[in-house]
Amino acid sequence: MSDPVLKLHNIKRWFGDGDKRLHVLKGVNLDIRAGEIVALVGPSGSGKSTMLYIAGLLDQPSSGSIHLANVACEKMSERERTLMRRAYLGFVYQSHLLLPDFSSLENVMMPQLIAGKSKKQAKERAVFLLDKMGLKNRMAHRSGELSGGEQQRVAIARALANQPSLLLADEPTGNLDPVTSEKVFTELLMLVRETGLSALIATHNPELAAKMDRRVQLVNGLLEEV
Ligand code: ADP
Ligand code: MG
Repeated sequence: MSDPVLKLHNIKRWFGDGDKRLHVLKGVNLDIRAGEIVALVGPSGSGKSTMLYIAGLLDQPSSGSIHLANVACEKMSERERTLMRRAYLGFVYQSHLLLPDFSSLENVMMPQLIAGKSKKQAKERAVFLLDKMGLKNRMAHRSGELSGGEQQRVAIARALANQPSLLLADEPTGNLDPVTSEKVFTELLMLVRETGLSALIATHNPELAAKMDRRVQLVNGLLEEV
């Protein structure tokens, strides 16, 4: 079997000191293989976002190790982590964090231009992804003028713009109504499967979790297969 795209080993994360110390992750282990889509479940406050931030190299664990594409990341500098994120990771957050005054197309082109692609290449890929997400007729719209579901579709296209190996999504449809949530989620999964990338997707919706390849749950700071 191929090496895991993401390997978390004995990850601990606590906040605060002394009596006030809060142990959120108490020794989390997780391997995600190429092409695998994993649901991260657990009630609000169980540490899903904390774990995703650590997996995404946006926060550092208190202890433990992280391998992304076989590279040890826990001792990296801020700069090295940024380069790893750019090369391997795509993120979707609960709120889309798009640039409201820019078009859908520009929002999806932006990370590609930052990564050094030509305008032509960036545009081609943005059109391809927005089309896949059902936004063919929304390319030129300012993202601030789109509906919540459309904005989240753009955010998904943006996360995939630089062809990451691993998509990390933190309750990506959590702010949408149930019908829109279901639709956007289905499109997200289709696109991820088609692209063959791996994904770790936090959700507290059991029906959405059931659509993924595997489910892991945070229980008292530890990860269990469900
Ligand atoms: P979830 O995403 O599952 O809802 P979080 O990872 O956001 O859970 O939070 C888990 C726990 O960690 C919560 O009790 C939260 O208050 C706490 N926590 C998260 N980040 C911090 C922080 N920077 N400082 C202190 N406590 C935090
Ligand atoms: Mg959260």
